[in-house]
Amino acid sequence: MIWLTGFIIAFVVAAYFRASLIVWTIVLTVLMFLFQRYSSASTVNVMFLWVLIAAIFIPLNLYPIRRNILSRPVYKFMAKIMPQISETEQQALDAGDVWWEADLFNGKPDFSRIRKLAKPKLTDKEQAFLDGPVEQLCSMLNDWQITHDNFDLSPDVWQFLKDNGFFAMIIPEQYGGLGFSAYAHSEVVMKIGSRSGSAAVTVMVPNSLGPGKLLMTYGTDEQKNYYLPRLAKGEEIPCFALTGPSAGSDAGAMPDSGVVCYGSFDGKEKVLGVRLNWEKRYITLAPVATLLGLAFKLQDPDHLLSDKTDRGITLALIKRNTEGVEIGHRHFPLNQAFMNGPTRGKDVFIPIDWIIGGTDYIGKGWSMLMECLSDGRAISLPALGVAGGKMAAKFTGAYARIRKQFHTPIGYFEGIEEPLAEIGGQTYAMESARLLVLSCLDHGETPSVISGIVKQQLMQRMRMSVNHAMDIHGGHGICMGPNNFLGRYYQLIPVGITVEGANILTRSLMIFGQGAMRSHPYLLKEVSAVHNKDKQQGLKDFDRALFAHAGFVMSNVVRTLWIGLTSARLLRTPGQGVTNYYYRQLVRMSSSFALMTDACVALLGGSLKRREKISGRLADALSNMYVLTAALKHFEDDVCPEKDIPLLKWACDDALFNVQQAMKGVMVNLQVPVIGRILNMLVFPLSKPYQRPTDKLGHQVARLLLEPSATLDRLTKGIYINNKVDDMTGRILAAQELVIETVELERKLRTAKRNGELQSDDAGLYAEAREINIINDKEFELLQKTQAAVQNAIKVDEFSNTGWQVETP
Ligand SMILES: Cc1cc2nc3c(=O)[nH]c(=O)nc-3n(C[C@H](O)[C@H](O)[C@H](O)COP(=O)(O)OP(=O)(O)OC[C@H]3O[C@@H](n4cnc5c(N)ncnc54)[C@H](O)[C@@H]3O)c2cc1C
Repeated sequence: MIWLTGFIIAFVVAAYFRASLIVWTIVLTVLMFLFQRYSSASTVNVMFLWVLIAAIFIPLNLYPIRRNILSRPVYKFMAKIMPQISETEQQALDAGDVWWEADLFNGKPDFSRIRKLAKPKLTDKEQAFLDGPVEQLCSMLNDWQITHDNFDLSPDVWQFLKDNGFFAMIIPEQYGGLGFSAYAHSEVVMKIGSRSGSAAVTVMVPNSLGPGKLLMTYGTDEQKNYYLPRLAKGEEIPCFALTGPSAGSDAGAMPDSGVVCYGSFDGKEKVLGVRLNWEKRYITLAPVATLLGLAFKLQDPDHLLSDKTDRGITLALIKRNTEGVEIGHRHFPLNQAFMNGPTRGKDVFIPIDWIIGGTDYIGKGWSMLMECLSDGRAISLPALGVAGGKMAAKFTGAYARIRKQFHTPIGYFEGIEEPLAEIGGQTYAMESARLLVLSCLDHGETPSVISGIVKQQLMQRMRMSVNHAMDIHGGHGICMGPNNFLGRYYQLIPVGITVEGANILTRSLMIFGQGAMRSHPYLLKEVSAVHNKDKQQGLKDFDRALFAHAGFVMSNVVRTLWIGLTSARLLRTPGQGVTNYYYRQLVRMSSSFALMTDACVALLGGSLKRREKISGRLADALSNMYVLTAALKHFEDDVCPEKDIPLLKWACDDALFNVQQAMKGVMVNLQVPVIGRILNMLVFPLSKPYQRPTDKLGHQVARLLLEPSATLDRLTKGIYINNKVDDMTGRILAAQELVIETVELERKLRTAKRNGELQSDDAGLYAEAREINIINDKEFELLQKTQAAVQNAIKVDEFSNTGWQVETP
């Protein structure tokens, strides 16, 4: 028994620490010598064990034998069943960088990578821009006028945006742009978004996926020198047209075409160029654009450029006034008034040098888009999502403090505490996720999988937060008008959910699918080896990856079970106190996730792509582990403020619970139930350890939202605050300030009433209290002022019966 235990311990330790094959071999050989020397086993038994170990480990260590006997049959089988990776899939896989998700797929995250990333910081110039032009812009924005009266930004605002470089935040200074960091760019969009979604989207588009970004990354010098300064000065308004009626999420299936040919252009004959036909829709800024970025499939039937006929997806810049270009109609996206519309082109001839990047980039359009998209996806929409959360935290929290029902601020009711807590916790999670990805971008990396996660998660969490805010405001959120700060944001949710990779598609197809292929330590190596045209080399690579993969799986089985049995208590991770607990749980879930990934891949193979409910849940697990990482990083970057602990805990508990639910969902839905049960035993050997944030924690978070504090300021930092009493949000904050100022007075009156000193009902209470000197004149006035401020804050807009004139008293 002692020897058996010794062998098992050696096995567990070697597997746990992911020992290499040679280390395994040495450890077992040493153990065998000890066994032979000191055990009382018979010679026959010892010999049997030697033969067994030799039979396993000699072929494993002699690579040519291993390759031919063991790996070759698997290699041949895999080559038969593994689907080919299409060109567009390959381009998507190649786009961007692998980042933190690789650590999570690895099951053994190296936190030093994240912890050493600098906290995002603004330069003086960026800070001055936020304090100056952005602040001024926000004060100029009247979202009701934009979305209801004019269906457009005012001419003043358009001019202000152009004059101040709002459309050129990402264009380098050498071309006249602002050359801002990703962080500054995000801060600008977030602040504008907290004032007007339509204005924010207008600013977002030229700074994300559009001609500017594509030109900077791929443009020829001539294109850059001509267009970038014009874009920077606002002389050109850009848009980018990818989506069409028959190609939405599956944009690669676009029917829009270009044919290489000779044509006449600008008075010149026999110009080499492309004849284009397209039909696109939903294109933001198209109705006012002067420069249209277009994606199409290029054909070269006469082989004017090369021997190849089908040249693939290609991108070009087209001037609006080019003959045959149809542009200018508008869509009306859920009452938002940013410019959005279709564009069509019939036999439009463009010279060949209008192709972005010139002829070198013909056919590379898809990877160009994927690369730029993953950058933009991490900045613009997440900024909008966080703006929604912060507005809800700041203004809805204040509203819940001033709005009374049953003589009690509604924020004190447990029923309201629940959604309030979710707003606070989700906002902390969203802000953390935003800041972490921005740190990575400003470090010069383009994390494509994490960008998808941030986009999908933040849009989803914005949806939850703003939905909850709507419920808390009741009729005050529903009745539209100039005083409603929430209704239009609510209508903006589906826009964020749909654009730049619709959420369902991103969750179910992209995040886990791309993540597993790109970031799993061995999967891509195995797939590439199987598809290698040089079969000898392919087999060699496959063999190496396969056996490393087998060791990896073995290790994850042992690690997951051990960490589960010990509730991760014995892990050495960074952090102190509360953070240390979450770091340990993150390692535990990462190890479990690595194991589950391999189990699902082994069980479902290529069909995992179609099993979107499984891959969607695995995506949820991965995404929530990213959010958990980000929350820890955010808390530590803020120097661990004690008062923020409830927010941190809420975000982390929620993330862990979501990971657990996602994994449970996978386990019970695997097509071979016994595999699910085995996984359950390994991952959750004692119990399901995570719970939703508790009621007590929710109470603490909700209370943080009701009154101003340094914690609330940190949570809502960067949104536009206007303290004017006639402003849609300023009126709520002004009332909140007075309500808090008069807390003691109100308490005094309540006590007096309870003691029978005051008889009046609400209406006459203050006057009676003054009459019998419970309060003085100044206090009476303050209470009246507070009452008026609350009435002003809770009022909703009224309109004339005819003509929709605002008649709010
Ligand atoms: C306001 C607005 C602005 C836009 N701006 C631009 C722009 O500037 N430029 C541009 O080119 N495009 C733009 N778009 C287009 C946008 O990118 C597309 O709307 C988006 O790609 C989805 O395409 P679709 O609307 O045709 O929906 P569909 O592709 O028809 O999708 C419908 C639903 O099916 C889901 N779905 C699709 N395939 C799968 C799958 N394999 N698995 C699971 N679910 C799937 C989607 O997630 C979605 O929920 C804009 C759209 C809107 C609404």
